[in-house]
Formats: sequence, C-alpha cells, structure tokens
Amino acid sequence: MVTGVMGTLQATQALKQILGIGQSGIGQLLMWDALRMKFTTMTLSADPACPICGGEHAHD
Ligand SMILES: [Zn+2]
Repeated sequence: MVTGVMGTLQATQALKQILGIGQSGIGQLLMWDALRMKFTTMTLSADPACPICGGEHAHD
C-alpha cells in the first residue's frame, strides 16, 4: 500500500512534467511518514562530483 501511494505520486509528477504544468519537484526530496501521516520536503542541491546531476550537464 505504501509503495502504491509513492508510485501514484511519481506517476502524477511524470504526467505534470509531460504536460508542462505545476511545480516540477526537481531538486526536492519528498518524504512520507505513513505512521504519523506527515509529508516533509527537503531541498537537495546537485553534487558536483555526481555524473548524473553534477558537472556541466546538470539540468537544474
Ligand atoms: Zn546526483
């Protein structure tokens, strides 16, 4: 059930990205504490040493 909620959130974000609407969530980490029913968002910056998000090919 928890994985279903996360999958639905990810699918929603993917649809928004495709449609170009809403806020992207890029650079954000969303955490869900299901037992306490709390959502928390942290901002993460790109790691310059990371081949995916760092360096000159970083896209946000
Ligand atoms: Zn990275």
